[in-house]
Amino acid sequence: MKKTNNKGYLEVICGPMFSGKSEELIRRLRRAQIAQQHVLCVKHVLDDRWSVEHIVSHNGSMFKTRPLTNIQDILTLVESSQADVVGIDEAQFFSENLLTIVQALIKLRKRVIIAGLDLDFRGVPFGAMPTLMAISDTVTKLTAICTLCGDEAALSQRLINGSPARHDQAVVLIGAQEAYQARCRGCYQIGS
Ligand SMILES: [Zn+2]
Repeated sequence: MKKTNNKGYLEVICGPMFSGKSEELIRRLRRAQIAQQHVLCVKHVLDDRWSVEHIVSHNGSMFKTRPLTNIQDILTLVESSQADVVGIDEAQFFSENLLTIVQALIKLRKRVIIAGLDLDFRGVPFGAMPTLMAISDTVTKLTAICTLCGDEAALSQRLINGSPARHDQAVVLIGAQEAYQARCRGCYQIGS
């Protein structure tokens, strides 16, 4: 892992749901703090699963995080916090604008660490993630464990009222019970 950073550096942590992306992001940010670096962490405000002010990974580790709706606001935060290291969680939810912002941060010689879903529930590359993976210095693609067979899982299975979601189903369904599971390619299902 890079200790000092004077050129700008981009790391992407991706994978399906339940693959430990937030946990890995927190681990890297903690190490930077131990190295006496200024750390700033933001996440998309849509992610309010347990806490608004902290990233919470599925295993319960926490890290102080600023919720944002517009990624543009990160530039002011970076300036005021004098951050050397910038973490961005749930990056797939930010608009394509994220790419421009990340490039600006790299130009400012920041170490940027991005965590997010590489694929949506349909298995389609998610938002700015594929491009960020292409321009990054390192990509860490994590896997989860398939809920059905226990194999390595790279896909996020969306379930609506217990059945596999159809590809054309809206992202938000009013009144429907929605759940996600990690699945391998063999167990991943498309609703009909
Ligand atoms: Zn499986």
